[in-house]
Amino acid sequence: MLYDHLSVNERGHLTIAGRDTVALAEAYGTPLMVMDEARIRARFRLYREAMTRWFGGASRPLFASKALSCRYLYRLAREEGVGIDLVSSGELYTALASGFDVGQAFFHGNNKTDADITYAMDHGVGWFVVDNLTELDRIEEEAAKRNRVQPILLRLTPGIDPHTHAAITTGQVDSKFGIAIETGQADEAVAYTLAQKHIRLDGFHCHIGSQIFEITPFCDAAKLMIAYVAQVKARFGYEASLLNLGGGFGVRYIESQPQPDYADSIRRIASLIDAEVARSGIRKPTILMEPGRSIVADACVTLYTVGGTKDIPGFKHYVSVDGGMPDNPRYALYQSDYTVCLASRMKDQPDYTCTVAGRCCESGDLLQENVCLPKPKRGDILAVLTTGAYNYSMASNYNRIPRPAVVAIRDGEVIPVIRRESFEDLIRYDL
Ligand SMILES: *Cc1c(COP(=O)(O)O)cnc(C)c1O
Repeated sequence: MLYDHLSVNERGHLTIAGRDTVALAEAYGTPLMVMDEARIRARFRLYREAMTRWFGGASRPLFASKALSCRYLYRLAREEGVGIDLVSSGELYTALASGFDVGQAFFHGNNKTDADITYAMDHGVGWFVVDNLTELDRIEEEAAKRNRVQPILLRLTPGIDPHTHAAITTGQVDSKFGIAIETGQADEAVAYTLAQKHIRLDGFHCHIGSQIFEITPFCDAAKLMIAYVAQVKARFGYEASLLNLGGGFGVRYIESQPQPDYADSIRRIASLIDAEVARSGIRKPTILMEPGRSIVADACVTLYTVGGTKDIPGFKHYVSVDGGMPDNPRYALYQSDYTVCLASRMKDQPDYTCTVAGRCCESGDLLQENVCLPKPKRGDILAVLTTGAYNYSMASNYNRIPRPAVVAIRDGEVIPVIRRESFEDLIRYDL
């Protein structure tokens, strides 16, 4: 199997964390998202330990909670001693509702509304990661009104293109995010920020993209950011105490992708940072990173019930399932790779090459193409692996399809995480 928490039992059924997925589908209905809690906790720990060990000091991971924002995940993050990133007041509300100490939270986004800024300050969010100067003005104004000093980081674009899909690339000069170093605008922003009375600049942030397997783009970004910290020290006499290098570590979705060694990646980035810090003569900042996808993605599988197959002679075979873009829009959005298997007949011969289609009135509503399965029958359970990140958090009610239920397996027990939406939920806001 793709991962060691997945296996096949004597009935030929896919198992996750030792539980039979077909039995889970029967008990909880489909579509059903099933997570292995131990795997999520292990990832939190892996990042926490590697960052403490290699970056040293007060370094820590921040869970980029947009990957899967729900109370359960914020509770796990809290229990594992990990900070968080937020990008909206809704995520902040969810974190607060889970008892998370948002003094450990970083508030992101390229357009924080006035309401976001006041709401975040009302609740004592630790840092804003400031994207642009109009936003900075608004934060200064709000902090002045409250007679307090608000810590921030400035989000910079170091000019790195990590060669992944354009829609998930963010570190180039031409980006809706951040302030470019190359154009001189970062310098202007630093000078402007340092002149504010109610803002404390703690350092800089960058995020170069997502689903990046190579280590070079991270090293290049770290190098550029350290060089920038040194440049700012020389020009303005200001030394950054925090350097946040963002998220973006790749996740293995299909066999042909490598299984990244995240701890080793941290070690390699750290040794480069140490060398650059020594060379440039600055004080080493506390290094933060913001993994999202690589914490939750491969802990989860989504289970669907097969409706039927359609064979179009000379063209394709379609397998239709009882979910699709409402619970997972990623294939429709950017043709994301996924491993698909027939969870109810794992031991049967896979000899049927097909396209797995969702149930929406939209021809682009596909989950994957060119998948080889045993020919599915109505009622079979089909599993899409690696659905923990950017699936539920991007889910919609398109075609008035209720969002799926999410459960977690903890020590062999099923823990409800998110209730399946009901029809009443669907009309809750209709007047
Ligand atoms: C999305 C995002 C992340 C997380 O990226 P992953 O690829 O999920 O690790 C981290 N930081 C920022 C600012 C982001 O926008």
